[in-house]
Amino acid sequence: MAIAIRTPAQIERLRTASLAVAKTLRYLQGLCRPGVSLKEIDAAGEEYLRSLGARPSFKGLYGFPAAVCTSVNEVIIHGIPSDYRLQEGDIIGLDLGSEVDGWFGDAAITVGVGTISPGDEALIACARDTLEYAIDIIRVGMRFKELSYAIEEFIKARGFLPLHGFCGHGIGRKPHEEPEIPNYLEHGSPKSGPKIREGMVFCIEPMITQKSSIPQILEDGWSVVSQDGLRGSHYEHTVAIIGGRAEILSKE
Ligand code: MG
Repeated sequence: MAIAIRTPAQIERLRTASLAVAKTLRYLQGLCRPGVSLKEIDAAGEEYLRSLGARPSFKGLYGFPAAVCTSVNEVIIHGIPSDYRLQEGDIIGLDLGSEVDGWFGDAAITVGVGTISPGDEALIACARDTLEYAIDIIRVGMRFKELSYAIEEFIKARGFLPLHGFCGHGIGRKPHEEPEIPNYLEHGSPKSGPKIREGMVFCIEPMITQKSSIPQILEDGWSVVSQDGLRGSHYEHTVAIIGGRAEILSKE
């Protein structure tokens, strides 16, 4: 199936859904203090998102039980909100999806709780800076594999690794659409595969590990960690290709 091309009017619908995610993540970032539980963050996020007229799209998606993925420390993505209470020095990934009138948005951030170590600062900065770099280099005509390869090279130059087995993705009338956009060159040449075109809308989401790219899923069936057992980080934006370049939709 071809990668969808959206009209400017459709992109505005996607911007509305994405903006609700951006606003909710900013609100949740302020809640990530010592003593706050993951379930409290999830409940606050769902309430805030709904107050903006959006539905939390992750809730029930593939059976996920909550609105917000709360991924603490060694959990890199897909953490389930629990009764765990945040502690000084933790890092937490917040990933949220929304739906407004059948159009979807998706974004993620990683936040430090109180004072965090310099190593964790660098880990979080790698995810954030990789995302910014990827968005900056996107041009119409570039291949998705070139983008994946550039993301991988950027992460490795920082001394970190991309998590394997999970990826960015198209987004539109469904939360996950074609294409898959890994944070590494999965196979083949960077000069092969589909090209980025005007009107495409997709999510870029660098997932950063320290010593091993190999993922493991914990007993809860959701939480994804690295085989190295070390902390990871994750950032994500929904972007649209407008005027030949990537414009962030999930930004206030
Ligand atoms: Mg996503």
